[in-house]
Amino acid sequence: MKQIVKELEEAQSILLKHVIKPGPEKVSLEAAAGRVVFSNLHAPFALPSFNKSPLDGFALNSLDTNGASQTNPVFIEIIDEVQAGDTRNDLKLKQKTGVKVMTGAPLPAGADAVIRKEEVYYSRGRIKLEKELSHNTDVILAGSDVRQGEVIFKKGDYLTPYHIGLLAALGIQEIDVYKKPVIGIISTGSELKKPGEPLSYGQIYNSNHYSLAALVKLLGGDACSFGTVADSISKIKVLLERAINTCDVIITTGGVSVGECDLVRNAVEDLGAEVLYSRINIKPGTPSMAALKDDKLIISLSGNPAAALISFELLLRPYIYFIKGSLEEPPLKAVEGVLIDGFHKSSRQRRFLRVRAAYEGNKWVARQTGSQDTGILKSMLGCNALVDIPASSPPIPPGGTVRIILL
Ligand code: AMP
Ligand code: MG
Repeated sequence: MKQIVKELEEAQSILLKHVIKPGPEKVSLEAAAGRVVFSNLHAPFALPSFNKSPLDGFALNSLDTNGASQTNPVFIEIIDEVQAGDTRNDLKLKQKTGVKVMTGAPLPAGADAVIRKEEVYYSRGRIKLEKELSHNTDVILAGSDVRQGEVIFKKGDYLTPYHIGLLAALGIQEIDVYKKPVIGIISTGSELKKPGEPLSYGQIYNSNHYSLAALVKLLGGDACSFGTVADSISKIKVLLERAINTCDVIITTGGVSVGECDLVRNAVEDLGAEVLYSRINIKPGTPSMAALKDDKLIISLSGNPAAALISFELLLRPYIYFIKGSLEEPPLKAVEGVLIDGFHKSSRQRRFLRVRAAYEGNKWVARQTGSQDTGILKSMLGCNALVDIPASSPPIPPGGTVRIILL
């Protein structure tokens, strides 16, 4: 079988060319965080919907304060009191009158300024003012936050908790979002058992399925499990067919290297899928494949847990972000920083180190989270970034400058 070898960025863009965007569904406010807006949303009314007071004080007409000074104070008769939540909409100020207001109170007609309680002398039903107020002093104007009809969210916007607050402020209970992409996960390997099952000598527990399903979920996808399958072309084919029929994209792990038991490519080709690449020039994660069948991607990762996770981060994180409907740039952000502990090996291939990165002082620093051997799973713990070492690099001295990909 001829290998189709790609650089990481080529593989990433191949995947992004095959984006199936799911249709819309309505979700409640409570379920909307992390989802992506399906269609532009207009404000049903202005925010605030009435002129209101930002403080505790007195609302009045600024024209009545003309000429006020310490030597020439102006007196305003306080004729009423308005609290937040007062629903009277027929209050109106006559000349030289005002109302006491609390924070959030609607202003009566004719009031265009508010003076802070602490700034006036109040006695016998009137306030004494020793300065002029201008139009709109300390007034939150209707529509100053959101105008009625304004597009508040656009198709493709990612809904954060802040978005949810704005939806609630506008009284919106449901919003159209993209359906979660359904991501099928198939684990291949005759040695695999499910946690809970007894293990015989030589067998291992399937960890990839659980870590990848958790990643899919955290990224906002719907992880759909197709269980574990032995290294058998016909058995892998059956599961692949089932997954293609029900999922938007399928991830497989294991069986994509060049050994006699690496049969995923055979199964994929038997199904009539077109192989887009079969190796990526990165370590860990060189064995990696993508194939297209009925417009759906089958993305196959190495079974090696660390390799599977790192390849997922580099390939599937941006891809899932995209198929969720988000129109923003894929979320892998790279920064320059220093590798505090250096790296002792020279790297023939482009290599990704598991590190913990932080912005300290005025620069990004990264520290290895443990052994970088492909077989080590534990050093994924605490890993929040990958150091990207170019092919043909000599060892990196402690404190050497590196490119850090933040996850
Ligand atoms: P493979 O990619 O099939 O060559 O597998 C590489 C290594 O990863 C082997 O040691 C496998 O036993 C191990 N492996 C494969 N699949 C899984 C899995 N789902 N969970 C944990 N380890 C796995
Ligand atoms: Mg295997």
